[in-house]
Amino acid sequence: MKFLTAGKSDKGVSRQNNEDNFCVDENLRLFIVTDGMGGAAAGEVASRMAVETIRDYVKHSSMGNEPFIGDYDKTFSDASNRITSGIRLANQAIYEASQSNVKWRGMGTTVAAALLDGSKMSIAHAGDSRIYLIRASSIVQLTDDHSIVSEQIKSGLLTKEEAEGSEVRNIITRALGSAPSVDIDLDEIDITDGDRVVLCSDGLTTMVSDNVILSTVAVSDEPDRACSALIDIANKNGGKDNITVALVYLFEDKTFSKKIKNLSGWHN
Ligand code: CA
Repeated sequence: MKFLTAGKSDKGVSRQNNEDNFCVDENLRLFIVTDGMGGAAAGEVASRMAVETIRDYVKHSSMGNEPFIGDYDKTFSDASNRITSGIRLANQAIYEASQSNVKWRGMGTTVAAALLDGSKMSIAHAGDSRIYLIRASSIVQLTDDHSIVSEQIKSGLLTKEEAEGSEVRNIITRALGSAPSVDIDLDEIDITDGDRVVLCSDGLTTMVSDNVILSTVAVSDEPDRACSALIDIANKNGGKDNITVALVYLFEDKTFSKKIKNLSGWHN
């Protein structure tokens, strides 16, 4: 499997700081979006710490230099256990930092991470940053938001439309750094030729509908331009929060050589 990737982050129209962070690491085949929270720039510290800790862990563990962290889940691959191990380590690092420094007390971050291994993609997340799969002109949200409104929708207390106006829309029920351990949702999907994977923070999804995300990504053969287009739409729609998007376009090797003739930045 080959791929084209891009990632972009923008502070949006009304926020002073950008507390989001992301990683698009083609060598490790690792893609992460994090959305930090906490006063006095602590959110930026938490979201950056998460990305750096997970990337460092995945890098060293894929060379066989790191043990798995926490319980190994035999129903999933090594790659999937590697990504949850990295997230657990990031959770510990952020939690310990928040306990040791008053400025960082209460900081935390969401995480949405994808690790590609052959034609399988491991998907892990905590919080309300999302991962979508675009395949054959349809879009599927692969992650469930860990948020109060998402739980209310699931239990039938709220419709999706009512949730959009909810005062507690921003409150998440899981985050890295808020406790010594964290529950992580993990999944594995089989990737096929032409799939496009979107990782994003809620600054995109509260401003741009799934259908617009689908149409914007589907019409652009260049992920870099699609990222910029999505951020532009989010800002035109209000840009009330930081906006981060990472895109991974996947191709079978044969299809890929035809597609990339006019594009740069591809990776084996
Ligand atoms: Ca946010």
